[in-house]
Amino acid sequence: QVETLKEKLLEQAQEISRLRSELGGTDAEKHRDLLAAENERLRQEMKACEGELRELRRQQQAPCRDCPHLQEKAGLQEQLSQLQREAEETRAKLVELDLEVQQKTNRLAEVELRLKDSLAERAEEEERLSRRLRDSQETIASLKSQPQQIKYIIKTVEVESTKAKQALCEIQSRNQYLQEQVGMQKQVLKEMEQQLQSSQKTEAQLRAQIVMYEAELERAHGQMLEEMQAMEEEKNHAIEEAFSRAQVEMKAVHENLAGVRTNLLTLQPALRTLTHDYNSLKRQVRDFPLLLQETLRSARAEISQAIEEVHSTNRELLRKYRRELQLRKKCHNELVRLKGNIRVFGRVRPITKEDGEGPEAANAVTFDADDDAVLHLLHKGKQVSFELDKVFPPQASQEEVFQEVQALVTSCIDGYNVCIFAYGQTGAGKTYTMEGTAANPGINQRALQLLFSEVRGKAADWDYAITVSAAEIYNEALRDLLGKEPQEKLEIKLCPDGSGQLYVPGLTEFRVQSVEDINKVFEFGHVKRVTECTNLNEHSSRSHALLIVTVRGLDRSTGLRTTGKLNLVDLAGSERVGRSGAEGSRLREAQHINKSLSALGDVIYALRSRQGHVPFRNSKLTYLLQDSLSGDSKTLMMVQVSPAEKNTSETLCSLKFAERVRSVELGPVSRKAELGSWPSQEHLEVPKRLLGDSPGSAAPPGRGHASPSPGQLSSRSASIRRKLHTSG
Ligand code: ADP
Ligand code: MG
Repeated sequence: QVETLKEKLLEQAQEISRLRSELGGTDAEKHRDLLAAENERLRQEMKACEGELRELRRQQQAPCRDCPHLQEKAGLQEQLSQLQREAEETRAKLVELDLEVQQKTNRLAEVELRLKDSLAERAEEEERLSRRLRDSQETIASLKSQPQQIKYIIKTVEVESTKAKQALCEIQSRNQYLQEQVGMQKQVLKEMEQQLQSSQKTEAQLRAQIVMYEAELERAHGQMLEEMQAMEEEKNHAIEEAFSRAQVEMKAVHENLAGVRTNLLTLQPALRTLTHDYNSLKRQVRDFPLLLQETLRSARAEISQAIEEVHSTNRELLRKYRRELQLRKKCHNELVRLKGNIRVFGRVRPITKEDGEGPEAANAVTFDADDDAVLHLLHKGKQVSFELDKVFPPQASQEEVFQEVQALVTSCIDGYNVCIFAYGQTGAGKTYTMEGTAANPGINQRALQLLFSEVRGKAADWDYAITVSAAEIYNEALRDLLGKEPQEKLEIKLCPDGSGQLYVPGLTEFRVQSVEDINKVFEFGHVKRVTECTNLNEHSSRSHALLIVTVRGLDRSTGLRTTGKLNLVDLAGSERVGRSGAEGSRLREAQHINKSLSALGDVIYALRSRQGHVPFRNSKLTYLLQDSLSGDSKTLMMVQVSPAEKNTSETLCSLKFAERVRSVELGPVSRKAELGSWPSQEHLEVPKRLLGDSPGSAAPPGRGHASPSPGQLSSRSASIRRKLHTSG
């Protein structure tokens, strides 16, 4: 089969070569690879067939290597060889026995022969003796007839007869002996015969066994033959199968070949077009590098031109952006200047449960629907209107309030100093606006959060460090709320570098980087404050609380350094304390508060009216904030008022203060005479109410803090301090 396949392959090769020659030069070249591949495939198929054939042959030579018949056959052969060995042994034994029998038979024959001889001898002797006896008797008889003679003869005979008798006896005894011998020999013969018989029996047995073994051998042989037959059949079957498969494959190969042939025929025109295409492509390919170079050159030129354009546009944009930025800053500053560096907002808190019920708790404040800067107060039956920069109604959220101040807060990143004051009578919402609640924080926390996010946004070019300090001014004494010695009074000193800047030696500064840090600082400061006084609400209403945030920036590219300060001040309650009602420490507190609030008013007035002398030194508060109030710093006064009927007189005072502060910024120097000097004694006006019913004592205890024991608090503050040190 392989041979025929090879032949066919050869034929096909010839056919291919014929076709190739028919197709001619270039076309044939195109198809050559195709046919070669086909050829290769056929060759591989043939190889596979050969391999199969070889395998079959091998199988034929070594039939069923692992089949169970083989094992059985081996077992049988083993058995057979054992049986043959046994038969061999038996045969050898038989030959031995035969030899023995032969020997014994020979001996027997010898003995018989000897017996025969002795019998013949005896018979001969008997014959001779009987003959002599007869002769003797005849002689006796003849002698009797011849008495004398006979007598003698008798005598002779008698003599002779004794001799004969003796001889006879001897012979008889000898006969006896011989007979015994014969008996013995017969006995031996009998035994021999018996032995022979048993040997014959054994032989028969062995023969039977041999026959049996032979039969078994025959059977095994038959079985083996059968198996061989079966294997032969199997082999034939496999060969047949392989043959038929090969035939089928051959057929497929033929078909393929036919297909190839037809393909070849159909491909010819395609080949021609392909050749044509190929040639044109070849030409194109030849020209391609030139074309490509040309295109690349032009593309490169275009790209570099575009890049150049983009660059110039970018530069232009950057320039414009910078100019715009500059302009914006200018505009902002202009806006701030126009609006005034001092802005005054009013915030009216809602009526709370603490305001009680009845006419005292009635609402006395109304708003202008069209103007969010106007507020009306109904005081003693008369409506008084005030205009501020903005008024927040009771429903204004902390978020809304903060939105209005966030521009101020961010300007401290640019290096501006900012002050935000919360002014108002106790219970009007100063602390709520500045600190807020944990769930709804006020300006302090929101400002720091905003600073953090702004600083993060500029982190690509700037390095910023934000630090916070917390201080309290009580009775004109400055104390560090974050320090180790809260009782220690701090001094405000001039910087020894001659810059004219002020600083507070010993005032603790904590670097903060996250909201968690701020919360820790606030908590720490709060705990300090609580530790130091017995009634925080009362104490806080009698002291100014300051949170000083310093933002130091470094522009990494230019090395420019900026420092901005954000002062968040929760002022002491502005309520007037009755001169007659207050005495001792309470009077002293009231005087201090009044003095510092008046001083704040004076300073603001002096600043806005651009007076040569600004009386910063009149109070600790203004002195401390000197840097942050002067120059191009920005100030926001958040005037807090209560809308309750019972607080209208304090509300009126606060709003008047607010309006005055605001009018200062509008008023040029010439208006100074009109406005007159700051009414510093305003806060010491004689009150109609006594201290007992002042809003200070009526301050809602809701926000009040339970007074923990000082020991507990100092240990707690120490632990918070530790935390702050580790984090900051
Ligand atoms: P102050 O600090 O001026 O003495 P507080 O901030 O302690 O006043 O406010 C007094 C009470 O009024 C507090 O219970 C506070 O929660 C509440 N309060 C103040 N302002 C608001 C407001 N805008 N919205 C809701 N509650 C307020
Ligand atoms: Mg307060």
